[in-house]
Amino acid sequence: MTLLKERLTAEDGLYLLTKEDLHVVQELANQKRKARVGDIVYYASTMHINPTNLCELNCPLCSFYAKPGWKKAWFLTPEEIEAKIRENLHKGLTEIHVVGGLWRDCDLDYYKELFTRIKSIDQNLHIKALTPVEYDFLAKLHDISVEEVFDRMMSWGLGSLPGGGAEILTEEIRKKIAPGKITSDRYLEIHKIAHRKGLRSNITMLFGHIEEPEDIITHLMKVREVQDETGGFQTFIPLKFHVENNTLGKRQDRLKPKDVRRIYAVSRLMLDNVRNIKVLWNYVGLDEAKEILEWGANDIAATTLDEKIIKMAGGTTLQMTDELLENTISSIGRIPKKIHSGYDYCKDDCLS
Ligand code: SF4
Repeated sequence: MTLLKERLTAEDGLYLLTKEDLHVVQELANQKRKARVGDIVYYASTMHINPTNLCELNCPLCSFYAKPGWKKAWFLTPEEIEAKIRENLHKGLTEIHVVGGLWRDCDLDYYKELFTRIKSIDQNLHIKALTPVEYDFLAKLHDISVEEVFDRMMSWGLGSLPGGGAEILTEEIRKKIAPGKITSDRYLEIHKIAHRKGLRSNITMLFGHIEEPEDIITHLMKVREVQDETGGFQTFIPLKFHVENNTLGKRQDRLKPKDVRRIYAVSRLMLDNVRNIKVLWNYVGLDEAKEILEWGANDIAATTLDEKIIKMAGGTTLQMTDELLENTISSIGRIPKKIHSGYDYCKDDCLS
């Protein structure tokens, strides 16, 4: 196989995922990463805002949601969120990442006030907000199109979309792990609408639950297809499923670190048209994130402030600083670069 010259087929991907020697897969992914994006490793300083964990759904994969009256439920007003951001501004924030449950009190009026307040703190704070699942919910709530939702949100300061809610883009699995969520086609269509509006987005893949290798390859092929059409994905983020505090996790924890690394490497190799592959250090731990930078990744996520979704599912809770992330990146001979999601990657000196 001349892997670095030709576009891989689904069959190639499946072979790399299930049969090829692990060292060969790593070597190829590392070569591909170097050729595609060079040695720079990105990170950001992100404050996570989850306005509420109240949600109309109760997805089996979710450790985050609550129902009214539950002890773990919360709802933050835009005013309270503004105060939280102001408290943390001195920590070098570059972006605000907003996602939450599907809840009718978080409607367009709520987001108008929230985004306006964020921009009043600092016009340069990048707002990366809401998943396609939430945009679909808002469109239905207000009986308007998703296009109209984007138009309004952009006029209030929306800068880009995070990548959540993708799970696995095959209906059979999706129906089991998140039965109430929009279909794969609808999920991708909303990304395409965002891209056509000039917004860029990230996209995740949740693996390590009940999916088969074929489902992972289907997911990667669908992402690649959309990217061929729009070019709007800026980062792909594989996420290993966390087993704590959700009904699905009670049965599953089957992947070893080498399996997880292989999935990052195969993502780099299959997604020849997506520039950035991100590993979330707070998902896999800092040491493992450093390792995965040698398996095709070129982004180690952020000095994350106030992140709740991953913590509630059992993720790492280490207090991260710019210095620690930069030292981690430099220790493997790579070059740290602090950015936010509105960053123009083309400014970097790379071969793409
Ligand atoms: S995954 Fe999202 S939509 Fe599903 S229950 Fe959790 S918060 Fe609600």
